[in-house]
Amino acid sequence: MIWSKEETLSRKEIEEIQLKRLQKTVALVYDKVPAYKKKFDEAGIKPSDIKCLADLSKLPLTTKEDLRDNYPFGLFAVDKDDLVRIHASSGTTGKPTVVGYTKNDLDMWTECVARIATMGGATKKDVAQICFGYGMFTGALGLHYGLEKIGATIVPSSTGNSEKQIMYMRDFGTTLLVATPSYALRLAEVAKSMGIDVKTDLNVKIGLVGSELLTDAMREEMHKMWGKDILVTSNYGMSELIGPGVSGECEYLDGMHINEDYFIPEIIDPITQEVLPIGQKGELVVTCISKEALPLIRYRTKDITRLNYDICKCGRTFCRMDNLMGRTDDMLKIRGVNVFPSQIEEVILSVDEIGPHYEIIVSRDNHCDKLEIKVELTKPTDTFKELQAIEKNIKSKLRVVLGLDAIIKLESPNTLKRFEGKAKRVTDLRTNKNN
Ligand code: ZN
Repeated sequence: MIWSKEETLSRKEIEEIQLKRLQKTVALVYDKVPAYKKKFDEAGIKPSDIKCLADLSKLPLTTKEDLRDNYPFGLFAVDKDDLVRIHASSGTTGKPTVVGYTKNDLDMWTECVARIATMGGATKKDVAQICFGYGMFTGALGLHYGLEKIGATIVPSSTGNSEKQIMYMRDFGTTLLVATPSYALRLAEVAKSMGIDVKTDLNVKIGLVGSELLTDAMREEMHKMWGKDILVTSNYGMSELIGPGVSGECEYLDGMHINEDYFIPEIIDPITQEVLPIGQKGELVVTCISKEALPLIRYRTKDITRLNYDICKCGRTFCRMDNLMGRTDDMLKIRGVNVFPSQIEEVILSVDEIGPHYEIIVSRDNHCDKLEIKVELTKPTDTFKELQAIEKNIKSKLRVVLGLDAIIKLESPNTLKRFEGKAKRVTDLRTNKNN
């Protein structure tokens, strides 16, 4: 099922809408946001210079630092009285990033989530349990209102108290789970410890996962634990743009459809900042073209992906972005080699004897980078020979994928840290990380 007719517009129609909305948005920020006016003036650009979509690349980029420099409301294009909601990022480093919504912004956000939830198989018949933390984080409320719009029954269980989560799932007949991939795996483990088989004792058929990368291997792991029939789709967004709902996967699992009538995507080279040709991998940059409160122009997401404009088998014409490869922030430079944690995860999940939980520790010893990976055995193994064989297997697979040697530490089952929200699996102990 396709939620709205906009999702099947022709390329020409999409581009007409985009240009009209882009011109309106550029004029709005130039007029209402002094920080944008200053940036545009410095770049020698006037709103009237935007005559076609290709002119977008003439506009200056916006970064998270711009939001921080203008904390809390400096980039807002409306009066405070017109705001109906404020969210903020967690702000683990420095000040949080504050985002605001007008009534129309909330309606647009809800519409976007209704579309991506429908793409992921949700209908009004679903009982949707939302295991994202409610609060300043946009994930929970975004999914909440989008799913409510399509008529699903919402169970706003938030995170934590995993045994109670399982009880709700069983007693309420939950069919749809909203969670991070790592928390979905954790819930299956908890259910097992309660004597509940999630495949047969529960009714969960749909997983809408987000806020963390969903690698193919992680999806496979979800199927191993939750059953092969569960449709697991990933969706994408970030609070600066709207929250979840920027894009989502359909049942063909071949990239996430971007709601192009509200967002224009570009891919740039993160170093030179040049726009890359279609199909090339680089940093995703997004322009919001119908937001009122915080219409960010060319926002650098720091997420690495690639765009695909081929028409999808599902009938939607909106372009797709590949599931994320990682973030420019997450990329580790180890002995001069660029390494994404997602590459390490793919290897770990491909080894049967170890589970999906892991920790990556990077340190420096005598001016040489050291990569250590702690993994967890799925069952206790005492034979030295067996342990040695497992270690050797992981090491050689990693060498093929990364071109690097790593130290592998095999830990006993159920000893590594579990996460209820976004998993934090990498610890970089080096003082200078870029040499
Ligand atoms: Zn599709």
